[in-house]
Amino acid sequence: MLAPALHEVRQRLANAALAARRPAPQLLAVAKAQPATAVAELAAAGQRAFGENYVQEAAAKQTQLATLPDLPELEWHLIGHLQSNKARDAAVLFDWVQTLDRTGLVAALARHRPADRAPLNVLIQVNIDDETSKHGCEPGAMTALAQAIAAEPRLRLRGLMVIPAPHADIEDRRPAFARARALFEALRGQHPHADTLSMGMSDDCAIAIAEGATMVRVGTALFGARTGKPHHP
Ligand SMILES: *Cc1c(COP(=O)(O)O)cnc(C)c1O
Repeated sequence: MLAPALHEVRQRLANAALAARRPAPQLLAVAKAQPATAVAELAAAGQRAFGENYVQEAAAKQTQLATLPDLPELEWHLIGHLQSNKARDAAVLFDWVQTLDRTGLVAALARHRPADRAPLNVLIQVNIDDETSKHGCEPGAMTALAQAIAAEPRLRLRGLMVIPAPHADIEDRRPAFARARALFEALRGQHPHADTLSMGMSDDCAIAIAEGATMVRVGTALFGARTGKPHHP
């Protein structure tokens, strides 16, 4: 029964975009801790882009999904922290890596991207204001990282991804979204083909859209609360 939730979320995104006079953002369905059957159900309802936090969990789910008949072609995004020793698997299993946050990953992902596949789409994850998080590059490191990515033919720099600090009052997250938008504009000054600003989740996607998100990552509002545990490697 996920189709009504998908419809409702799409409606919410469209309304937020309309209110902000912006194009409707892409919807990434965050499938962490959800079974393959739930992914298949959303796919049948028309959703194509899915996000996973763990490389192993994505691999297991993709294997299960491959046994289903009539599954449409899906687009997989890694949205969880990428350990260097998982770069090889990530370069094979995903169409997008949204969490590239250090130069060490650039060559590893490029080297392991299969030659018969399109270049791997990547977003630079920027630590926009959450000092408690170890993940994401410093805003000042974005430019050098972008240059390193742009120099790799097997990678395609598509933009930025941010996760603001989880202030309880979601209005308090707005300044971080606005800063991310400014950084994204700076990135586009040097890399005009960068077209994706990934920010906003179930509870704060309307604010993220108002501040310029072109992609929102939504889990709970689509699938309901996560009851299972995500796979920890
Ligand atoms: C879990 C997760 C989401 C989705 O969060 P919800 O609150 O369930 O919508 C989005 N982005 C990242 C990076 C996540 O880990």
